[in-house]
Amino acid sequence: MAVIAGNWKMHHGPNEALDFLSDFDVDAVPSSHELIVFPSNLSLHALATAEQRDSRVQVGVQNVYWEDSGAFTGEISASMAKDAGAAFALIGHSERRHVFGETDLQTQWKVDIVVSSGLVPVLCVGETIEERKAGLVEEVILRQLEVALDSLCSAPRFLVAYEPVWAIGTGETATPEDATFAHGTLRRRLEQALSAPHASRVPILYGGSVKPGNAAELMEARDVDGLLVGGASLDATSFSQIAAAAG
Ligand code: PEP
Repeated sequence: MAVIAGNWKMHHGPNEALDFLSDFDVDAVPSSHELIVFPSNLSLHALATAEQRDSRVQVGVQNVYWEDSGAFTGEISASMAKDAGAAFALIGHSERRHVFGETDLQTQWKVDIVVSSGLVPVLCVGETIEERKAGLVEEVILRQLEVALDSLCSAPRFLVAYEPVWAIGTGETATPEDATFAHGTLRRRLEQALSAPHASRVPILYGGSVKPGNAAELMEARDVDGLLVGGASLDATSFSQIAAAAG
């Protein structure tokens, strides 16, 4: 079983989201795969309640605020996202951290509220190119995991996504060896925090310029349990090709 997730970022309004669903060939995807789409907040409810939505296509929110309600103009809460039909929440995506300046502490608060609201958190971690060149991959991804680990481990279910910042939207992809190293590092920390059988069931997704042509190779890497796809998930055909190629 693999988890294949699509992060639409700031693309696809409600009508385009519904068009995607009509075009997406869920039957081309092995039935053992779990499919998740992270649409924009404006498209989430339309996608989650669409009649043509196959129940295999689950919906998640790309980001939430760390409070449940209040005077926070422009923000949305985890409980609202759940009410609108989301089952998952991406937290700490590279663009949240590096474009919007989200700190480790803020990702921790967000994971806390996501878990207490009953959504399944998908914590994104990953190093910048400077951190990679300085040999800090392990240190960075473990630090990003560590801050949220207690909350994650208290949740009935959670996922982790390893997304090297330098591979997101750049066309550059981690090699299967890079992915194995990072995923193995994360898995070992999860094994310390949880029992080994429990840790082995936590899906660790790879993200960063995944395309139909490289999905199979990345999925074969040890400890890669699924894929988080940005740009190539916007097109229904390429997203279903990636899911089909994922094994
Ligand atoms: C992402 O947004 O999580 C991502 C991995 O983007 P891309 O596939 O476009 O690199």
